[in-house]
Parts: sequence; C-alpha cells; structure tokens
Amino acid sequence: MSNRTKTALIIGGGPAGLEAAIKIGQAGYSVTLVEKEPVLGGTLRKLCSSFPRWENPQELIDFKLQQLDQLPVVRVMTDTVVNAAERRGDSFLVTLQGKEGSNQVDVDAVIIATGFELFDASVYGEYGYGTYPNVLNSLEFEEKLKEWTAAGDKPEALQTVAFFKCVGSRDRSKGYPYCSKICCMYAAKQAGLVKDLFPDSKCYVFYMDYRAAGKEYEEFVRSVIEQKHVRYVRGRPAKVIPEEGRLLIRAEDTLMGIPIEVTADVVVLANAIIPSSGTKEMAELFGIKTGKYGFLDSDSKSPLQAGDRVFFAGACGFAVESLGAQYQGAAAAAEVVALFNQAD
Ligand code: SF4
Repeated sequence: MSNRTKTALIIGGGPAGLEAAIKIGQAGYSVTLVEKEPVLGGTLRKLCSSFPRWENPQELIDFKLQQLDQLPVVRVMTDTVVNAAERRGDSFLVTLQGKEGSNQVDVDAVIIATGFELFDASVYGEYGYGTYPNVLNSLEFEEKLKEWTAAGDKPEALQTVAFFKCVGSRDRSKGYPYCSKICCMYAAKQAGLVKDLFPDSKCYVFYMDYRAAGKEYEEFVRSVIEQKHVRYVRGRPAKVIPEEGRLLIRAEDTLMGIPIEVTADVVVLANAIIPSSGTKEMAELFGIKTGKYGFLDSDSKSPLQAGDRVFFAGACGFAVESLGAQYQGAAAAAEVVALFNQAD
C-alpha cells in the first residue's frame, strides 16, 4: 500500500466537476481537476441567466472558484485532456496532455464530468440551420443574449423571435426518441429574456407539449407566458423560408386546427442534448459502459458508478440542469470519499 494521499481525477470543470472537486478537497483528499477549455465553468459559463430564479450563472462560478482557491489539495489543469489510462491494481496511471506537454498522474478514483453537446440540427433541412444565418441553436442564442445584456448593444430591428422545441428530441425518424428534459425550461427562460431586453418584441414558442417538472418550474413557465407575454403555439413548424432578410415560419396551430405563418428575425432551435465527444472518448479509455445513445451508464447499485473506481456526474449521464449537475457532483464525490475512507 502506498503512503501518498489518495487522489481523485476529475475530468471536466463544469458545475458537476467543480462541485465534486470542492467536496473531495474539503474532505482532505487530493484532487486533479482537468478541463479541456482554458477556463473552468463548462456550459454554465456560456449562459446568460438561469431558471427558475433568473440568477447570473457567472456569480455561481465565481463562488465555486473562490471555494477552490481555499483548497491547496486541488490541482487545476486547464487546457488539458486525458490521453491514456492504464489500470494498475487499485489505481490508474493516467496520461494528461496540456499545452506545455504531457505528464502522468497516479490516481485512485476517477469522476467523469464531461458534459453534453447539442444535436446538429442541420438534418432538419426544412429549418435551415447552417444555411440561414439567423437560425441559431440555443447555445448560440445564449451567446447573443449575453452580448446584448452585457454591452447594452442591442439590434434595433429585433421585432420577433421564434423558438422551436423538441428539435432532435422525441423524434424517432430524424433525431432521438428521448425527451432532453431541460429544453422546455431554457426555451422559456430565453423567451423571457428577449421580452425583458426588447419589451416591444413578440416571442413565439412552438411546442408539442411542455414539461416543467421541477421545483418552481411550472410557475416559472407560467410567469413567462402570463407576465412577460410570450406566446406558446402548439404545433411543430413545417418550414422556415427566408424572406427579405427575415424568416417566414409555416406551422400549424394544432389547438386551433389552423395553419399559421409568423415572420421572425431569429429562429432559435432547442436541440436535443447528446453526449459530448469527450464523454465517448472517456468511456473508451476507462472501459466503461454507455447506454444506447452514448450517455454513461451505471453498472452497479450505485447510480453514479460506471465501473470499478470510476464514477460520473452531470450531463455525461443524461441531460440535467446545472443545479442537478451540482447535486450529482456532490453525490459522486461522496462515493469517492467513502471509498477512500475505507481501510486498505
Ligand atoms: Fe421537448 Fe421539452 Fe422534452 Fe425538450 S424538455 S425534448 S423541449 S418536451
């Protein structure tokens, strides 16, 4: 048995990975936290506001970074990826590749927190994603919202924004059969933000149905509809047609049973959540199970355990909002601490 302090490797510095690193560090064990991007925060860093409380995600990240700063046992390596992993009894010899070169670390447990990507909506040729510049996915639009909020530099002509939900989700023919769980909420949030920024604009959310199962979620969507006057239209849009610099949307309002047309300046697609490429790579490197669609899967009675000494947290397991990702990060950390606390 080695005398060195037990060390956990955490792969991914979004809300799940950050929380896991903090909790394991606070328990007195060593942590190496690797993040492929130059900064920590993950997708949360790209968001303009949060649901259901309209909070600024950067404030949460800053708070987490302050907590990390108090923990010298946590070593943070940004711009770094995991290149190789070799099992050695109860530990792993892991090769990390950074900008300055590669180095190897010996670790006793691993938490994978590699997050998600958005489905590529260009397979829906009728919506024009990738062809018409004003058809954006939800993260691209989030970037715009951030710019407009921060700089106060808003486009004057923004009159109408249309949101399409379930793009690539709940669609067996062109996408995935599952519901991506968080898009009903973030679409409502984005539409609400547009109305705050552009009170005279019109916002349409096209939906098949909406799912708001979570604490304060239903009230949040209701407030967006009733107080911010976002219009929800039941029906899947059939086509987006460019028209004099704007976008004509043809859809059917299935509640009214009538075809409708809306002309918008921007169309925002709430694309399906899919596993990130990093998630697939880590599953292969550590030889752990993935489910049918590539999300990490547990193989034991412990819901966040993907293999012997390998755990996962956050959206690499399935679509989850940032608060849920934090809960999972803390839970995976508890698993690792319990493992490290056991006598050798
Ligand atoms: Fe569709 Fe809402 Fe499910 Fe997303 S969360 S797939 S928008 S029903």
